[in-house]
Amino acid sequence: MSTYDVVGIGIGPFNLGLAALADPLEDVDAVFLDQRPGFSWHAGMMLEGATIQVPFLADLVTMADPTSPYSFLAFLKETGRLYPFYIRESFYPLRAEYDEYCRWVAARLDTLRWGRRVVAVEHDAASDTYLVTAEVADDDGVNREQYRTRHVVLGVGTSPRLPSPLADLAEEAAGTSGAGPVVHTADYLSRRDALQASGAVTVVGSGQSAAEVYRDLLEDAGTYRLDWVTRSPRFFPMEYTKLTLEMTSPEYTAHFHGLPTELRDLVGREQRSLYKGISGDLVDDIYDTLYRRTALGREVPTTLLTDTEVVAARAERADDGGTEYVLTLRHGQLGTTAEHRTRAVVAATGYAAGVPALLDPVRDRLLLDDQGRFAATQDYTVSSDARIHTLNGEEHSHGITAPDLGFGPWRNSVVLAKVTGREPYPIERRIAFQQFGLPGGMPVPDGGAPAGTARTAPEGAR
Ligand SMILES: Cc1cc2nc3c(=O)[nH]c(=O)nc-3n(C[C@H](O)[C@H](O)[C@H](O)COP(=O)(O)OP(=O)(O)OC[C@H]3O[C@@H](n4cnc5c(N)ncnc54)[C@H](O)[C@@H]3O)c2cc1C
Repeated sequence: MSTYDVVGIGIGPFNLGLAALADPLEDVDAVFLDQRPGFSWHAGMMLEGATIQVPFLADLVTMADPTSPYSFLAFLKETGRLYPFYIRESFYPLRAEYDEYCRWVAARLDTLRWGRRVVAVEHDAASDTYLVTAEVADDDGVNREQYRTRHVVLGVGTSPRLPSPLADLAEEAAGTSGAGPVVHTADYLSRRDALQASGAVTVVGSGQSAAEVYRDLLEDAGTYRLDWVTRSPRFFPMEYTKLTLEMTSPEYTAHFHGLPTELRDLVGREQRSLYKGISGDLVDDIYDTLYRRTALGREVPTTLLTDTEVVAARAERADDGGTEYVLTLRHGQLGTTAEHRTRAVVAATGYAAGVPALLDPVRDRLLLDDQGRFAATQDYTVSSDARIHTLNGEEHSHGITAPDLGFGPWRNSVVLAKVTGREPYPIERRIAFQQFGLPGGMPVPDGGAPAGTARTAPEGAR
């Protein structure tokens, strides 16, 4: 069995980007495994007209290598869409376009293996390598394949999170025939018709996905009731101001990583508006739609509730023999509760990263914090030998850059530097005009400040 330099587990945008950046490197022999039959990006939220939230330069490769043949512009050129994109004059590709672009890149890489569910990573002490075992289902049943490698890169993404009252309700709903759906936004589109047919839909949660689902259902509300309940004190917009965007940077990530764990957790919660808000245009579009649909005295059966949490949920038989869901809502400021009846629920309650069970055989080699989460090093390794790496499993330790598509190529450049022992792609250490922390305070990897900003670099920085 040959030994790879890298085995990537999961092929979402982050490991696909790593595969594209590793492709031209002679000294990196890599293979990437995914349980799905092919690349698919958030199919449950592939809403018509939705755009990605980052500029097209945040593709899989450009921020690491602007000359890469796997860039979004190269995709547009080859698919004859460059001029229409140019004339469209928007930095933000359609979500469906980004998915198509990733499929275009995936089709050009011969290091991807689809239909492989990784079930275990083991360490072979004799050869000091890792053995990655994947299950492959085919006509004769399920077989197992093994890959030997020096480095393992985890790109398994995050999993839909359902708060316990809704998780229990979803289980109950799944077991009750004829009951309306209780689904996470990850499965929204596949259940949209059933949601609309239920007669009354409640969207629970804040953020972009909640707003997109509410807007999507608002157009036909009337044939069904539509309510939106969120714990957030208000429907807050995502922050896009440039000095705030400078926090999506190597030096802010280093600053955040250097903070004590409890402070990181607190700051992480406080930073929700940076990437868990709603795009301002969509907030206004929702308002304008409500205005338009209620003009001339028309009624739209909808309620929008903020600072309101779902604290309990149960299913009941309704008078019409159908299934009704009763959500107990608690208002944050009032501290009072009320019951809300509905026939279907969409949980826009986010995603969570975790330490996947496939790593159980090497748990003794993992860097974990006292909450059992990855204690990733600043350069994204999660094992004592610095040969298991995480992509997007480190939001609690690295902050807002973890799920950010625009930061993917930078992180991948750091991982490839660890794998090759050199810097195949230049790694910017500083990109911001502002400084995070105090001069001479937080250690920041070496490298100069942006041109034209005469300021004292920290101790030891060139
Ligand atoms: C609806 C939505 C829109 C988003 N839009 C943006 C945006 O516009 N801009 C932005 O910066 N971020 C955005 N994000 C955040 C983030 O960029 C995405 O979640 C991104 O998909 C994360 O990529 P990933 O590679 O970590 O994982 P994923 O895309 O989740 O892919 C993980 C892959 O791992 C595979 N896998 C998991 N376990 C195994 C296993 N055991 N064996 C084999 N394969 C496995 C899965 O099949 C999957 O293909 C969005 C998130 C969502 C939910």
